[in-house]
Amino acid sequence: MPNNCIFCKIANKEIPANIMFENEHIIAFKDLNPKANTHLLVIPKQHFENLSKIDDNNLILELILGIKEITEKYNISDYKVQTNNGKGAGQEVFHLHFHILSNKKI
Ligand code: 5GP
Ligand code: ZN
Repeated sequence: MPNNCIFCKIANKEIPANIMFENEHIIAFKDLNPKANTHLLVIPKQHFENLSKIDDNNLILELILGIKEITEKYNISDYKVQTNNGKGAGQEVFHLHFHILSNKKI
């Protein structure tokens, strides 16, 4: 784990987050500054900088299946999924994460 990665720390429960889902591979928690009624972040527990850098296809599948499972769990049918890849695309936290954004409040 790189030093001072805030999302590694959340995954390791070293700093608190509002965790909404967790399994062996991934964890999902509420974004600190929500940009929609529901704004979750889904991350792999293992550190990868972003989508360009992840080299584990099974884990990519786990993330996408996790998004389906999380939205089903909270009965969210209409939502957007976003990942910002690189500084120029607005990436601020360099631990891969997918935003789930929905108008539905959970
Ligand atoms: P990015 O711009 O890198 O795609 O998105 C980073 C997201 O992480 C932002 O939406 C920001 O609000 C969120 N964020 C940054 N630090 C924390 C934190 O410590 N806890 C939580 N829950 N979200 C964070
Ligand atoms: Zn990390």
